[in-house]
Amino acid sequence: MIIAVMKERHPREKRVPLVPSTAAKLVKLGAEVVVETGLGMNCRLRDEEYQKAGASIGSSRTDMLKTADIIIRLRKPPKDEVLLMKKGCIHLSYLDPFNEVELVETLQDAWVSAISLEMIPRTTIAQKMDVLSSQANLGGYAAVTLAADHLDRVFPMMTTPAGTIKPVRVFIIGVGVAGLQAIATAKRLGAIVEAFDTRPVVEEQVKSLGAKFVKVDLGETGQTKDGYAKALTPEQLALQQEGMAQACARADIVITTAQLFARPAPRIIDHTIITQMRPGSIIIDMAVETGGNVEGSELDTIVEIEGVKIIGIANLPGRVATTASEMYSANLGNFVEHFWNKESEMLVVDEKDEIMQGALITHHGEIVSQMYKNIMKK
Ligand code: NAD
Repeated sequence: MIIAVMKERHPREKRVPLVPSTAAKLVKLGAEVVVETGLGMNCRLRDEEYQKAGASIGSSRTDMLKTADIIIRLRKPPKDEVLLMKKGCIHLSYLDPFNEVELVETLQDAWVSAISLEMIPRTTIAQKMDVLSSQANLGGYAAVTLAADHLDRVFPMMTTPAGTIKPVRVFIIGVGVAGLQAIATAKRLGAIVEAFDTRPVVEEQVKSLGAKFVKVDLGETGQTKDGYAKALTPEQLALQQEGMAQACARADIVITTAQLFARPAPRIIDHTIITQMRPGSIIIDMAVETGGNVEGSELDTIVEIEGVKIIGIANLPGRVATTASEMYSANLGNFVEHFWNKESEMLVVDEKDEIMQGALITHHGEIVSQMYKNIMKK
Protein backbone atom coordinates (compact mmCIF):
# COMPACT_ATOMS: atom_id res chain seq x y z
CA MET A 1 0.00 0.00 0.00
CA ILE A 2 1.21 3.51 -0.74
CA ILE A 3 1.20 5.73 2.35
CA ALA A 4 1.50 9.42 1.50
CA VAL A 5 2.47 11.81 4.28
CA MET A 6 1.44 15.38 3.64
CA LYS A 7 3.17 18.55 4.78
CA GLU A 8 1.03 20.80 6.95
CA ARG A 9 -0.34 23.92 5.29
CA HIS A 10 -1.47 25.76 8.44
CA PRO A 11 0.84 28.77 8.77
CA ARG A 12 1.39 28.39 12.52
CA GLU A 13 1.68 24.59 12.64
CA LYS A 14 5.19 23.48 13.50
CA ARG A 15 4.43 19.83 14.28
CA VAL A 16 4.96 17.15 11.65
CA PRO A 17 2.82 14.01 11.39
CA LEU A 18 5.56 11.47 10.81
CA VAL A 19 9.18 11.27 12.00
CA PRO A 20 11.80 9.04 10.34
CA SER A 21 11.70 6.32 13.03
CA THR A 22 7.99 5.75 12.37
CA ALA A 23 8.57 5.91 8.61
CA ALA A 24 11.06 3.03 9.09
CA LYS A 25 8.47 1.10 11.09
CA LEU A 26 5.87 1.48 8.30
CA VAL A 27 8.40 0.47 5.63
CA LYS A 28 9.25 -2.61 7.68
CA LEU A 29 5.57 -3.55 7.72
CA GLY A 30 5.68 -3.59 3.93
CA ALA A 31 4.25 -0.18 3.09
CA GLU A 32 5.59 2.10 0.39
CA VAL A 33 6.00 5.41 2.23
CA VAL A 34 6.14 8.69 0.30
CA VAL A 35 6.72 11.88 2.28
CA GLU A 36 6.19 15.31 0.80
CA THR A 37 9.46 17.15 0.31
CA GLY A 38 10.28 19.38 3.27
CA LEU A 39 7.85 17.51 5.52
CA GLY A 40 10.06 17.57 8.61
CA MET A 41 11.79 20.92 8.14
CA ASN A 42 10.06 22.59 11.11
CA CYS A 43 11.59 19.96 13.36
CA ARG A 44 14.97 19.95 11.59
CA LEU A 45 14.24 16.60 9.95
CA ARG A 46 15.75 16.59 6.47
CA ASP A 47 14.39 14.65 3.47
CA GLU A 48 17.53 12.49 3.53
CA GLU A 49 16.64 11.19 6.99
CA TYR A 50 13.30 9.94 5.68
CA GLN A 51 15.09 8.42 2.69
CA LYS A 52 17.49 6.63 5.04
CA ALA A 53 14.43 5.22 6.80
CA GLY A 54 13.30 3.73 3.47
CA ALA A 55 10.76 6.36 2.42
CA SER A 56 10.76 8.15 -0.92
CA ILE A 57 10.28 11.88 -1.35
CA GLY A 58 7.25 13.22 -3.23
CA SER A 59 7.53 16.57 -4.92
CA SER A 60 4.02 16.79 -6.42
CA ARG A 61 1.33 17.12 -3.77
CA THR A 62 -1.36 16.46 -6.38
CA ASP A 63 0.26 13.23 -7.56
CA MET A 64 0.68 12.07 -3.98
CA LEU A 65 -2.98 12.71 -3.19
CA LYS A 66 -4.15 11.00 -6.37
CA THR A 67 -2.12 7.80 -5.94
CA ALA A 68 -2.10 7.13 -2.19
CA ASP A 69 -3.98 4.23 -0.59
CA ILE A 70 -3.45 5.80 2.83
CA ILE A 71 -2.94 9.49 3.56
CA ILE A 72 -1.44 10.67 6.82
CA ARG A 73 -1.47 14.22 8.06
CA LEU A 74 -1.92 16.18 11.23
CA ARG A 75 -4.80 18.55 10.66
CA LYS A 76 -8.04 17.97 8.79
CA PRO A 77 -7.79 17.88 4.99
CA PRO A 78 -8.80 20.88 2.87
CA LYS A 79 -11.94 20.12 0.87
CA ASP A 80 -10.26 20.62 -2.52
CA GLU A 81 -7.65 17.98 -1.61
CA VAL A 82 -10.33 15.44 -0.63
CA LEU A 83 -11.66 15.71 -4.19
CA LEU A 84 -8.27 14.55 -5.51
CA MET A 85 -8.13 11.41 -3.37
CA LYS A 86 -8.63 7.94 -4.76
CA LYS A 87 -11.95 6.21 -4.11
CA GLY A 88 -11.39 3.90 -1.11
CA CYS A 89 -8.42 5.89 0.19
CA ILE A 90 -7.92 5.73 3.99
CA HIS A 91 -7.31 9.14 5.56
CA LEU A 92 -5.76 9.48 9.02
CA SER A 93 -5.71 12.84 10.82
CA TYR A 94 -7.39 15.02 13.39
CA LEU A 95 -10.79 15.73 11.86
CA ASP A 96 -12.86 17.68 14.41
CA PRO A 97 -15.93 16.00 12.84
CA PHE A 98 -18.63 17.63 14.99
CA ASN A 99 -17.60 21.05 13.73
CA GLU A 100 -16.93 19.91 10.16
CA VAL A 101 -20.27 18.67 8.84
CA GLU A 102 -19.57 19.78 5.28
CA LEU A 103 -16.10 18.22 5.24
CA VAL A 104 -17.51 14.93 6.56
CA GLU A 105 -20.07 14.97 3.72
CA THR A 106 -17.30 15.63 1.20
CA LEU A 107 -15.29 12.67 2.53
CA GLN A 108 -18.40 10.51 2.39
CA ASP A 109 -19.19 11.50 -1.21
CA ALA A 110 -15.56 10.94 -2.25
CA TRP A 111 -15.66 7.38 -0.80
CA VAL A 112 -12.76 8.19 1.49
CA SER A 113 -12.46 6.15 4.71
CA ALA A 114 -11.83 9.00 7.13
CA ILE A 115 -10.36 8.11 10.49
CA SER A 116 -10.62 10.83 13.10
CA LEU A 117 -7.78 10.28 15.53
CA GLU A 118 -9.39 12.30 18.32
CA MET A 119 -12.27 9.78 18.33
CA ILE A 120 -10.08 6.81 19.28
CA PRO A 121 -11.76 5.38 22.39
CA ARG A 122 -10.02 5.94 25.76
CA THR A 123 -9.44 2.23 26.37
CA THR A 124 -6.33 0.54 27.78
CA ILE A 125 -5.47 -1.16 24.48
CA ALA A 126 -5.81 2.11 22.55
CA GLN A 127 -3.62 4.15 24.90
CA LYS A 128 -0.58 3.83 22.65
CA MET A 129 -2.58 5.37 19.75
CA ASP A 130 -4.25 8.10 21.80
CA VAL A 131 -3.21 11.39 20.19
CA LEU A 132 -5.53 13.38 22.46
CA SER A 133 -3.61 12.20 25.50
CA SER A 134 -0.12 12.51 24.07
CA GLN A 135 -0.75 16.05 22.83
CA ALA A 136 -2.77 17.18 25.88
CA ASN A 137 0.05 16.01 28.12
CA LEU A 138 2.53 18.23 26.27
CA GLY A 139 -0.03 21.04 26.13
CA GLY A 140 -0.24 20.97 29.92
CA TYR A 141 3.53 21.22 30.17
CA ALA A 142 3.70 24.06 27.62
CA ALA A 143 0.92 25.99 29.39
CA VAL A 144 3.05 26.21 32.53
CA THR A 145 6.24 27.22 30.71
CA LEU A 146 4.26 29.83 28.74
CA ALA A 147 2.82 31.23 31.97
CA ALA A 148 6.27 31.24 33.55
CA ASP A 149 7.55 33.24 30.61
CA HIS A 150 4.89 35.92 31.12
CA LEU A 151 5.00 36.09 34.91
CA ASP A 152 7.49 38.54 36.37
CA ARG A 153 8.12 36.38 39.44
CA VAL A 154 10.16 33.24 40.07
CA PHE A 155 8.35 29.98 40.81
CA PRO A 156 10.21 28.42 43.75
CA MET A 157 10.64 29.59 47.29
CA MET A 158 14.19 30.90 47.75
CA THR A 159 15.96 31.77 50.94
CA THR A 160 18.57 34.36 50.11
CA PRO A 161 20.68 36.85 52.14
CA ALA A 162 18.36 39.55 50.80
CA GLY A 163 15.33 37.79 52.23
CA THR A 164 12.96 34.94 51.53
CA ILE A 165 11.15 34.81 48.20
CA LYS A 166 7.66 33.35 48.41
CA PRO A 167 6.75 30.62 45.90
CA VAL A 168 4.15 31.46 43.24
CA ARG A 169 0.67 30.01 43.50
CA VAL A 170 -0.82 28.19 40.54
CA PHE A 171 -4.48 27.17 40.26
CA ILE A 172 -5.43 24.55 37.65
CA ILE A 173 -9.09 24.19 36.65
CA GLY A 174 -9.88 20.89 34.92
CA VAL A 175 -7.70 17.94 35.79
CA GLY A 176 -7.73 15.63 32.77
CA VAL A 177 -4.52 14.70 30.99
CA ALA A 178 -3.43 18.33 30.39
CA GLY A 179 -4.34 19.45 33.90
CA LEU A 180 -2.40 16.61 35.54
CA GLN A 181 0.73 17.44 33.55
CA ALA A 182 0.28 21.15 34.33
CA ILE A 183 0.13 20.31 38.05
CA ALA A 184 3.23 18.12 37.81
CA THR A 185 5.17 20.74 35.84
CA ALA A 186 4.24 23.62 38.16
CA LYS A 187 5.17 21.48 41.18
CA ARG A 188 8.55 20.63 39.63
CA LEU A 189 9.22 24.35 39.22
CA GLY A 190 8.45 24.85 42.90
CA ALA A 191 5.00 26.44 42.87
CA ILE A 192 2.25 25.91 45.41
CA VAL A 193 -0.47 24.25 43.33
CA GLU A 194 -4.22 24.01 43.81
CA ALA A 195 -6.63 22.31 41.39
CA PHE A 196 -10.31 21.69 40.80
CA ASP A 197 -12.38 19.40 38.60
CA THR A 198 -16.07 18.55 38.56
CA ARG A 199 -15.26 14.84 38.52
CA PRO A 200 -14.77 13.90 42.19
CA VAL A 201 -12.60 10.88 41.23
CA VAL A 202 -9.83 13.31 40.37
CA GLU A 203 -9.23 14.43 43.97
CA GLU A 204 -6.93 11.50 44.76
CA GLN A 205 -4.85 12.09 41.60
CA VAL A 206 -4.41 15.76 42.50
CA LYS A 207 -3.27 14.88 46.01
CA SER A 208 -0.88 12.21 44.75
CA LEU A 209 0.94 14.93 42.78
CA GLY A 210 1.36 16.97 45.94
CA ALA A 211 -1.26 19.59 45.05
CA LYS A 212 -4.33 20.68 47.01
CA PHE A 213 -7.80 19.86 45.71
CA VAL A 214 -10.19 22.81 46.03
CA LYS A 215 -13.54 21.52 47.18
CA VAL A 216 -16.75 23.09 45.89
CA ASP A 217 -20.03 21.38 46.68
CA LEU A 218 -21.88 21.27 43.34
CA GLY A 219 -24.34 18.49 44.23
CA GLU A 220 -24.39 15.58 41.82
CA THR A 221 -21.78 15.76 39.04
CA GLY A 222 -20.12 12.86 37.31
CA GLN A 223 -18.57 11.43 34.21
CA THR A 224 -19.58 9.49 31.12
CA LYS A 225 -18.57 5.84 30.60
CA ASP A 226 -15.49 7.10 28.69
CA GLY A 227 -14.42 9.23 31.65
CA TYR A 228 -15.47 12.60 30.17
CA ALA A 229 -17.10 15.21 32.39
CA LYS A 230 -20.85 15.68 32.25
CA ALA A 231 -22.04 19.24 31.60
CA LEU A 232 -23.09 21.20 34.69
CA THR A 233 -26.48 22.87 35.04
CA PRO A 234 -26.46 26.71 34.96
CA GLU A 235 -27.02 26.69 38.75
CA GLN A 236 -24.03 24.38 39.29
CA LEU A 237 -21.85 26.57 37.06
CA ALA A 238 -22.82 29.62 39.14
CA LEU A 239 -21.87 27.72 42.32
CA GLN A 240 -18.59 26.73 40.73
CA GLN A 241 -17.76 30.32 39.81
CA GLU A 242 -18.44 31.40 43.38
CA GLY A 243 -16.15 28.63 44.68
CA MET A 244 -13.43 29.36 42.14
CA ALA A 245 -13.29 33.11 42.80
CA GLN A 246 -11.23 32.88 46.01
CA ALA A 247 -8.79 30.34 44.59
CA CYS A 248 -8.30 32.57 41.52
CA ALA A 249 -7.74 35.64 43.70
CA ARG A 250 -5.03 33.76 45.64
CA ALA A 251 -3.25 32.61 42.46
CA ASP A 252 -0.48 34.22 40.42
CA ILE A 253 -1.29 31.87 37.56
CA VAL A 254 -4.61 30.25 36.65
CA ILE A 255 -4.63 27.57 33.95
CA THR A 256 -8.01 26.42 32.67
CA THR A 257 -8.28 23.15 30.75
CA ALA A 258 -11.98 22.32 31.16
CA GLN A 259 -13.51 20.56 28.17
CA LEU A 260 -16.76 18.72 27.45
CA PHE A 261 -16.73 16.00 24.80
CA ALA A 262 -18.26 17.18 21.49
CA ARG A 263 -19.62 20.35 23.13
CA PRO A 264 -18.35 23.89 23.60
CA ALA A 265 -16.09 24.33 26.64
CA PRO A 266 -17.81 25.57 29.83
CA ARG A 267 -17.40 29.26 30.70
CA ILE A 268 -15.90 29.21 34.20
CA ILE A 269 -14.07 32.49 34.78
CA ASP A 270 -16.10 35.64 34.29
CA HIS A 271 -15.14 39.29 34.30
CA THR A 272 -15.86 39.69 38.03
CA ILE A 273 -13.44 36.89 38.95
CA ILE A 274 -10.76 38.41 36.72
CA THR A 275 -11.08 41.82 38.35
CA GLN A 276 -10.61 40.22 41.79
CA MET A 277 -7.19 38.84 40.76
CA ARG A 278 -3.97 40.72 41.48
CA PRO A 279 -2.57 42.86 38.62
CA GLY A 280 0.36 41.01 37.05
CA SER A 281 -1.38 37.64 37.35
CA ILE A 282 -1.70 35.36 34.34
CA ILE A 283 -4.60 33.27 33.06
CA ILE A 284 -3.92 30.64 30.41
CA ASP A 285 -7.14 29.53 28.69
CA MET A 286 -6.30 26.13 27.22
CA ALA A 287 -9.88 25.71 25.99
CA VAL A 288 -9.74 28.82 23.79
CA GLU A 289 -10.11 26.76 20.59
CA THR A 290 -13.39 25.21 21.73
CA GLY A 291 -15.06 28.38 22.92
CA GLY A 292 -12.95 29.25 25.95
CA ASN A 293 -13.25 28.86 29.72
CA VAL A 294 -12.51 32.54 30.33
CA GLU A 295 -14.65 35.57 29.51
CA GLY A 296 -12.79 37.86 27.13
CA SER A 297 -10.14 35.37 26.02
CA GLU A 298 -9.34 35.59 22.33
CA LEU A 299 -7.78 33.03 20.03
CA ASP A 300 -4.05 33.53 19.56
CA THR A 301 -4.14 36.80 21.43
CA ILE A 302 -3.02 38.12 24.80
CA VAL A 303 -5.72 40.31 26.30
CA GLU A 304 -5.13 42.43 29.40
CA ILE A 305 -7.99 43.18 31.78
CA GLU A 306 -7.17 45.39 34.77
CA GLY A 307 -3.57 44.22 34.75
CA VAL A 308 -4.40 40.51 34.43
CA LYS A 309 -3.04 38.91 31.25
CA ILE A 310 -5.42 36.44 29.62
CA ILE A 311 -3.50 34.24 27.22
CA GLY A 312 -5.51 32.36 24.60
CA ILE A 313 -2.69 30.92 22.53
CA ALA A 314 -3.85 27.90 20.52
CA ASN A 315 -1.87 24.76 19.75
CA LEU A 316 0.25 24.66 22.89
CA PRO A 317 1.73 21.24 21.97
CA GLY A 318 3.12 23.03 18.89
CA ARG A 319 5.39 25.02 21.24
CA VAL A 320 7.30 21.81 21.86
CA ALA A 321 6.90 20.72 18.25
CA THR A 322 9.67 18.15 18.07
CA THR A 323 8.49 16.16 21.09
CA ALA A 324 4.86 16.59 20.02
CA SER A 325 5.69 15.29 16.52
CA GLU A 326 7.52 12.28 17.95
CA MET A 327 4.50 11.45 20.12
CA TYR A 328 1.90 11.99 17.37
CA SER A 329 3.97 9.97 14.92
CA ALA A 330 4.38 7.12 17.40
CA ASN A 331 0.61 7.10 18.06
CA LEU A 332 -0.07 6.95 14.31
CA GLY A 333 2.49 4.21 13.75
CA ASN A 334 0.88 2.15 16.50
CA PHE A 335 -2.55 2.65 14.93
CA VAL A 336 -1.39 1.50 11.51
CA GLU A 337 0.48 -1.46 13.00
CA HIS A 338 -2.59 -2.53 14.99
CA PHE A 339 -4.72 -2.79 11.85
CA TRP A 340 -1.99 -4.05 9.52
CA ASN A 341 -2.41 -7.49 7.99
CA LYS A 342 1.09 -8.90 7.66
CA GLU A 343 0.20 -11.44 4.95
CA SER A 344 -1.57 -9.08 2.59
CA GLU A 345 0.60 -6.12 3.71
CA MET A 346 -2.49 -3.95 3.94
CA LEU A 347 -4.20 -1.78 6.50
CA VAL A 348 -7.56 -3.43 7.15
CA VAL A 349 -10.52 -1.24 8.03
CA ASP A 350 -11.98 -3.73 10.50
CA GLU A 351 -15.40 -2.39 11.30
CA LYS A 352 -15.88 -4.97 14.05
CA ASP A 353 -12.91 -3.65 16.02
CA GLU A 354 -13.89 -1.35 18.89
CA ILE A 355 -11.10 1.15 18.19
CA MET A 356 -11.96 1.36 14.49
CA GLN A 357 -15.67 1.67 15.31
CA GLY A 358 -14.87 4.68 17.47
CA ALA A 359 -12.55 6.46 15.06
CA LEU A 360 -13.96 5.65 11.61
CA ILE A 361 -16.30 8.41 10.47
CA THR A 362 -16.93 7.68 6.77
CA HIS A 363 -16.49 4.41 4.87
CA HIS A 364 -17.75 3.03 1.54
CA GLY A 365 -19.70 6.22 0.81
CA GLU A 366 -21.54 6.17 4.16
CA ILE A 367 -21.24 7.93 7.50
CA VAL A 368 -20.56 4.95 9.76
CA SER A 369 -19.71 6.48 13.15
CA GLN A 370 -22.59 5.78 15.52
CA MET A 371 -21.29 8.40 17.96
CA TYR A 372 -21.25 11.04 15.19
CA LYS A 373 -24.77 10.13 14.09
CA ASN A 374 -26.09 10.19 17.68
CA ILE A 375 -24.56 13.55 18.53
CA MET A 376 -25.49 15.22 15.26
CA LYS A 377 -29.11 14.07 15.64
CA LYS A 378 -29.48 15.97 18.97
P1 NAD B 1 -10.96 16.70 28.66
O1 NAD B 1 -9.91 17.35 27.84
O2 NAD B 1 -12.22 16.25 28.01
O3 NAD B 1 -11.38 17.70 29.84
C1 NAD B 1 -10.41 18.23 30.73
C2 NAD B 1 -10.94 18.21 32.12
O4 NAD B 1 -11.92 19.23 32.28
C3 NAD B 1 -11.61 16.91 32.53
O5 NAD B 1 -10.94 16.35 33.63
C4 NAD B 1 -13.04 17.35 32.89
O6 NAD B 1 -13.58 16.60 33.97
C5 NAD B 1 -12.82 18.79 33.27
N1 NAD B 1 -14.01 19.65 33.30
C6 NAD B 1 -15.10 19.66 32.49
N2 NAD B 1 -15.97 20.62 32.88
C7 NAD B 1 -15.41 21.24 33.95
C8 NAD B 1 -15.80 22.33 34.79
N3 NAD B 1 -16.96 22.98 34.62
N4 NAD B 1 -14.97 22.68 35.79
C9 NAD B 1 -13.79 22.03 35.99
N5 NAD B 1 -13.37 21.02 35.24
C10 NAD B 1 -14.17 20.63 34.23
O7 NAD B 1 -10.34 15.51 29.48
P2 NAD B 1 -9.22 14.48 29.03
O8 NAD B 1 -7.92 14.95 29.46
O9 NAD B 1 -9.42 14.15 27.60
O10 NAD B 1 -9.63 13.23 29.91
C11 NAD B 1 -10.97 12.75 29.88
C12 NAD B 1 -11.06 11.45 30.61
O11 NAD B 1 -10.46 10.41 29.87
C13 NAD B 1 -10.42 11.42 31.99
O12 NAD B 1 -11.25 10.68 32.82
C14 NAD B 1 -9.14 10.68 31.75
O13 NAD B 1 -8.66 10.05 32.91
C15 NAD B 1 -9.62 9.69 30.74
N6 NAD B 1 -8.53 9.12 29.92
C16 NAD B 1 -8.45 7.77 29.80
C17 NAD B 1 -7.45 7.21 29.01
C18 NAD B 1 -7.36 5.74 28.85
O14 NAD B 1 -7.84 5.01 29.67
N7 NAD B 1 -6.77 5.29 27.78
C19 NAD B 1 -6.56 8.03 28.35
C20 NAD B 1 -6.68 9.42 28.49
C21 NAD B 1 -7.69 9.96 29.27
